[in-house]
Amino acid sequence: MKVLLTAEQIQEGVNSLAQRIEQYYQGKPVTLVGVLIGSIVLLADLIRRLNIPLRVGLVQARRYRGRNTQPGPLAIDLEVLTAEVRGRHVLLVDDIFDTGQTLWELIPQLDELAPLSIRTAVLLRKQGRKQVDLEPDFVGFEIPNVFVVGYGLDYDDMYRNLPYVATLDNEDLK
Ligand code: 5GP
Ligand code: MG
Repeated sequence: MKVLLTAEQIQEGVNSLAQRIEQYYQGKPVTLVGVLIGSIVLLADLIRRLNIPLRVGLVQARRYRGRNTQPGPLAIDLEVLTAEVRGRHVLLVDDIFDTGQTLWELIPQLDELAPLSIRTAVLLRKQGRKQVDLEPDFVGFEIPNVFVVGYGLDYDDMYRNLPYVATLDNEDLK
């Protein structure tokens, strides 16, 4: 395992994300919607740095299955979203923007719930992978095209608890 972003670097990145988000939503009713499961660590850190009134909700979008680092089909579940969205601004929060498919497919489904706007925030954005006509609005870090774990990101549901972001070596991929 090789550390790509230390815990300290991540905390600085989240501070900067929070500052930009706080400024943008000043005076607006906002609901942060985290994409399960990978976003939960970022979401928990982010909301505690936002000094604005906000609501929090969750949706589920799963792509990676078990010990597979290649993307599989996407399953979206909005049933878990109990927070109010209608008439509010929505900030979708995810761990990483890779091909962009997840947020690209989530946005029109959330839009049916009649929010005032939908913006997106991600901790990481992988370079050279984008497959959709969408740019995340708030990005913590640009990273190279490598498979990463930690700070919410998993491999076979492991490593989410690491306070840093790391790449896996071949011997970790078993
Ligand atoms: P996208 O739909 O943008 O291609 O991928 C977004 C989702 O794929 C993320 O929410 C994350 O769950 C998963 N993903 C993409 N790249 C990585 C990666 O490098 N490591 C891990 N653990 N998950 C990833
Ligand atoms: Mg995810």
